[in-house]
Amino acid sequence: MDRVYNFSAGPSVLPLSALERARDEMLDFGGCGMSVMEMSHRSKAFQEIFDSARDKLRRALKVPDSYEILFLQGGATLQFAAIPMNLMRGGKADYAVTGNFSGKAAKEAEKYGAVHIACDTSETGHDRIPSQGELELSPEADYFYYCANNTVYGTEWQYIPKTAAPLVCDMSSDILSRPVDVARYGLIYAGAQKNMAPAGLTVVILDRALAGHELPITPQVMSYETMIGAGSMLNTPPCWCIYILGLVLDWLEEQGGVEGMEQIKKARAAKVYDFLDNSGFYRPHALPGSRSDMNVTFRTPSPELDAAFVKEAAERGLVNLKGHKAAGGLRASLYNAMPMEGVDALIDFMKKFEVEHHV
Ligand SMILES: *Cc1c(COP(=O)(O)O)cnc(C)c1O
Repeated sequence: MDRVYNFSAGPSVLPLSALERARDEMLDFGGCGMSVMEMSHRSKAFQEIFDSARDKLRRALKVPDSYEILFLQGGATLQFAAIPMNLMRGGKADYAVTGNFSGKAAKEAEKYGAVHIACDTSETGHDRIPSQGELELSPEADYFYYCANNTVYGTEWQYIPKTAAPLVCDMSSDILSRPVDVARYGLIYAGAQKNMAPAGLTVVILDRALAGHELPITPQVMSYETMIGAGSMLNTPPCWCIYILGLVLDWLEEQGGVEGMEQIKKARAAKVYDFLDNSGFYRPHALPGSRSDMNVTFRTPSPELDAAFVKEAAERGLVNLKGHKAAGGLRASLYNAMPMEGVDALIDFMKKFEVEHHV
């Protein structure tokens, strides 16, 4: 078997042990005589898989009892609409635009109410996270929206904003990579395909008190109140993804939980940034103090060399290092399941590439 080091931003690398268990249980899950893919979502066997994944997630993130955990579909992108539809009771919200996805979320929310841009870092290519003092907060906002980790540009909030309005946070690309004080948030959500499970599942964690005030036009499957009442199973949930999430959470627990993940992620990212900062060849994109531990964005001296880098790296089993089209350049995504050997192999290759191409 020839597994590569996969630096994809999403869908992305999953823990090998989870994939192996899925393989072993593929044809016959726990003596049921069928695959999880073939089960009724109303069966007792599947309900146990569902409950166990949800309980493990609650434990891993220490989610308070007053918060609901929903397993939904439609990706993070559907939440760009679901959030204003459910939470914009007074018709106004603050949005921090620090990257691609928060910009898209703000644009989508404009359909449902007044969006106030609390900050916008597009002028400098989204290379930093604004300080608390730079955030323009409106007193009547129903919520404050931000994206904890900007997958495309490689910046990550190093603090939790202080706001009177409830915090709504897109954690798609850094959930489960560090402890989170869930009680500080009104709602946290994440598309699973970055750091949790295969594509197709969106996790929403919300303060129960915020549900039940959606706009009348809200589709049933987008209503938090309806989905809470239905235990996330108003319709067929993404069964297979929920099952894999459970396996990934077993692995996560063995690795020391989110505390263990945070230590490893800091070590992984520090190695790459140290190397970049000491190189005259590569240029990191994000500014110190704003840098993401999950997605490291950088460039060589030219777009032609960037392309050669991606190609030559792939020949050595280091794949998916091309930057997002909105940002260009290169990007190494270092999610939970990326082993340190992958980081070491990447740095070795970067050194070699620099020697061969330095002018
Ligand atoms: C990938 C990503 C999204 C979009 O996710 P989809 O599931 O494709 O809709 C949104 N926000 C962040 C931070 C992401 O990384």
